Amino acid sequence: MKILFLSPGWPKGRLWGELGFKFPTLSLASLAAVTPQGWDVSFHDDAIRATDFDNDADLIALTAMTAQATRAYQLADAFRSRGKTVVMGGFHASNLPDEALQHVDSVVVGEGELAWPQLLADFQAGRLQQLYRADGLIDTALIPPARREIFKGSGHLFTNTIQTTRGCPFDCEFCSVTAFYGRKYRKRPVEQVLVELQELRKANSFVFFVDDNIVADRRYSLPLFDGMKGMGLKWLSHAPIDFAEDQELLKAAGESGCVGMFVGFESLNQDSLAAMGKVTNKAASYKAYAQQFRDNGIGILGSFVMGCDGDTPAVFEQTLRFCEDARLEAAIFPILTPYPGTKVRQRLEAEGRIISNNWQDYDMEHVTFQPRGMTVQELQDGYDQACRSFYSWGSIYRRLFKLHRSVQVFGPMNIGFRSAIRRKCTDA
Ligand code: SF4
Repeated sequence: MKILFLSPGWPKGRLWGELGFKFPTLSLASLAAVTPQGWDVSFHDDAIRATDFDNDADLIALTAMTAQATRAYQLADAFRSRGKTVVMGGFHASNLPDEALQHVDSVVVGEGELAWPQLLADFQAGRLQQLYRADGLIDTALIPPARREIFKGSGHLFTNTIQTTRGCPFDCEFCSVTAFYGRKYRKRPVEQVLVELQELRKANSFVFFVDDNIVADRRYSLPLFDGMKGMGLKWLSHAPIDFAEDQELLKAAGESGCVGMFVGFESLNQDSLAAMGKVTNKAASYKAYAQQFRDNGIGILGSFVMGCDGDTPAVFEQTLRFCEDARLEAAIFPILTPYPGTKVRQRLEAEGRIISNNWQDYDMEHVTFQPRGMTVQELQDGYDQACRSFYSWGSIYRRLFKLHRSVQVFGPMNIGFRSAIRRKCTDA
């Protein structure tokens, strides 16, 4: 029998949809890896090429973030109207299984690997259930290497992504990670990860770790980074800003080839950081910490959440000024988004402040709640202007004109963001 693993596209005219550089969905290659022998597996990314609904697969398997949910449902409806069986997992369907079941035959809640073999066995036996709930969390030692060969021919230029840890020990109010995985931080055995990295290295020296926090346990990340030394990798991942406090670990990351980290600064306002539960961040140390990243060869893609209750229209200019002063190599300014399952959604719902449940707008670029310190329009306009200003040629020049090894990554990244922002303005 045949399975089509299907990744839905992002809405047209949105930043993440317009970015030319796209990663394939690693979680689908992870599901392919736990698919029993005998199944013929293929992959399609609807964001790269139009979906062919005359596919001969017996089973269509979708995963979606909230902003992709509307497109996922369109795809599911179209396949089901042609008599196909469609199943769905991922963050959005796990949080809203009843909604997803209006469009698909079955929903997997939680980590897919645990429930997937049972779902397939039931499908083959003609007794597919509507709901499969992962029974706990998978033992990370049992996670096989992702079957990245399914990405061949998908149109992706880069498929070297890997996951070494799952979850995060923190619980920021706006974040979906802990809502999905709980607060347990789980690590794959270092030896297994190093073997997988050796394979990836044959394809490309660049690797992106999709971990949400690759340095949450130094007893794990230090031997990992030590083991990566000498492999000739150039890699990026996610880390909190207080990673800079651990000089030994920071140095080991740099020496193992880390050229960039996605860092959640979230806010320059310490009260806002406290309100969102971002316990790792001390705003007064941001600039010094950013320099320490850079001193170890690591550039920063900073993320600043816009529209927190302490934010006024002045936040945009203050944030842009900080980004330039700290010479951040890249940044995004996501509008606070009350994703299903998060604590911020619960709070905003209780306060009657959710103004839109149009999932397409849950793309971190649209205002879906009533802000406190500014109007909806001020938040929207401030976001749009911040993106344009940060990726103007002048700002790119001021932030990137320095001899630093991370420029090899952040130079193209800035051009990519700038082009995507200009395209989305044209499409709008
Ligand atoms: S530290 Fe990062 S990954 Fe962890 S809960 Fe906060 S935002 Fe999410």
